[in-house]
Amino acid sequence: MFVFTTVNELQHFISSHASKHRIGFVPTMGALHAGHLSLINASKHNHELTVCSIFVNPTQFNNPIDLEKYPRTLSQDLKLLAETGCDVVFTPEPEQLYGSDIQAQIYDYGEIMNSFEGAFRPGHFNGVITVVKKLFEAVKPDAAYFGSKDLQQCMVVSQLIKREFPNLKLHIMPTIREENGLAMSSRNTRLSDTEKILATGLYKAMNNAAENIKNEVDINAAINAAAYKYLNNPLFKIEYFNLINTENFNVANAIQPNCNYAIIIACWCGEVRLIDNLPLVET
Ligand code: AMP
Repeated sequence: MFVFTTVNELQHFISSHASKHRIGFVPTMGALHAGHLSLINASKHNHELTVCSIFVNPTQFNNPIDLEKYPRTLSQDLKLLAETGCDVVFTPEPEQLYGSDIQAQIYDYGEIMNSFEGAFRPGHFNGVITVVKKLFEAVKPDAAYFGSKDLQQCMVVSQLIKREFPNLKLHIMPTIREENGLAMSSRNTRLSDTEKILATGLYKAMNNAAENIKNEVDINAAINAAAYKYLNNPLFKIEYFNLINTENFNVANAIQPNCNYAIIIACWCGEVRLIDNLPLVET
């Protein structure tokens, strides 16, 4: 496995391989878990060369405490990536990607950037688009792998690809969960043991709401009842818990035929902000 820290080294390597090998790319912020490794495995399955980046992108953090406390476990990450058979790891310092001016560009992709994560984390998606664009330009992949755990991010990245990287294929992969349903997340390492058990309430609440919506309970009533049943604890602070149309992320107040829906949630569990989502699958 090759590990590069500068764009020059990376591009030198990529330019000597790009003509012979199709490149799959998995951008991450490190503190890797089985969710990340599922993306590496999907890329390895489809491409001769898999590149993973590990970069805690400062411009996508609206909350300085979240940035400071974000887990950083580089040597363990490199071990896991080598074991999984990743070919190339890119771990730049911020200056490598941003120079001396560590700032996000401003983008306007419409409502998808302003609602939900965009509303609760102002500037977050400008930071995401800025860094993903820089990484795509450095790695020049044929395909990129993202997790549907960050569903709204997938929509935003899909817009970036449509507008600026039309030849790049986006693969959106399913969320990997702990056995108890908790979506794997680097931030879970910041939860206490009690909070980890409590946090399974998010998945239970989404499933309960989904069941009731499918049974034609009023959507708002179904969501309120699920929140009351599974998230009624002072450690939880719900930011949003909604059914949305996955085409446009608009709140859905009724189910229409031939549309796709998902339940999305953002909820603080103690000091840690968790997000998750569940597609509404017809039975
Ligand atoms: P992050 O390191 O949190 O920026 O995540 C890097 C990539 O891994 C993103 O595309 C995430 O959506 C994806 N990811 C994070 N958690 C999971 C999970 N539990 N299952 C599948 N993919 C995930």
